[in-house]
Amino acid sequence: MALELGLHELFTACQYEPSILPPVDVLERFEALYKRYPALTRRQWGEDTSGRPLYSYHVEHGEETIFMYAFPDPGEAVGGTGLLALLRLLLDPDSYMASLPYRWVFVPCLNFVDQPDKGRSLRKLMKTASQEVDWCVSAPRPETTAVLDIADTYKPIFTFPLHDEYHHRRYVAPYIGLAKPIDEDIAMRVRTLFTDHGVELDREYCSEPMGEGFFLMPEIGEEYLNSTFHHCAHYGQVLVVEIPSQSELPDVILTYLQLVTGLIICMS
Ligand SMILES: [Zn+2]
Repeated sequence: MALELGLHELFTACQYEPSILPPVDVLERFEALYKRYPALTRRQWGEDTSGRPLYSYHVEHGEETIFMYAFPDPGEAVGGTGLLALLRLLLDPDSYMASLPYRWVFVPCLNFVDQPDKGRSLRKLMKTASQEVDWCVSAPRPETTAVLDIADTYKPIFTFPLHDEYHHRRYVAPYIGLAKPIDEDIAMRVRTLFTDHGVELDREYCSEPMGEGFFLMPEIGEEYLNSTFHHCAHYGQVLVVEIPSQSELPDVILTYLQLVTGLIICMS
């Protein structure tokens, strides 16, 4: 019942930003909230190759950490706007989300240097291998090191890298990756959430016991061992929710589907 309250709240919070925002706008809104709310703190984890500081923003309501980072790759924009929606709830003492006993650690734009048009647009594009930050632990970029350091510092019970397929020019059905299996009934609940909005999870992915639309990261093979996901999985669950570029669904629904999948899996 309490979880339903959280889902409802998130749905309302997602309406606050009617469109998915480019990185510069997300970062500006994070900074504005940081200046306004003393409960929102900030910590630096080095800087990127352009000299820009890599910041995480924290709301501390408990000891156990939930770690989320947006814009891990170029044009993967859904999660940045989702983080803003969630942050606004966490800063509202009357919200259900603010009553949950967690330390929330958010990086609003992890990979700024590779974003199109200096972070000012939502242009569709495909990343190159050299633009990745999550798959190069053996030769880490500053952004990779930031993720690893945050993980080692806070040992997050739940890490939610906000990757998506929103950057694609064509439609790619949504699919969900996990470091560790979840129960069949929780997977079914997530699948139903998507079908209720007229979207089917990609049936090409299928890991038991979760079924269609889900894959287990260790099944990727050796490459997985070189990923931040593998590192973060030492401390807890790791989830990616690959939200499509889907013109028929309003942006607020794309943002909501990604966030709520995270909440359902994290809370169950
Ligand atoms: Zn990605």
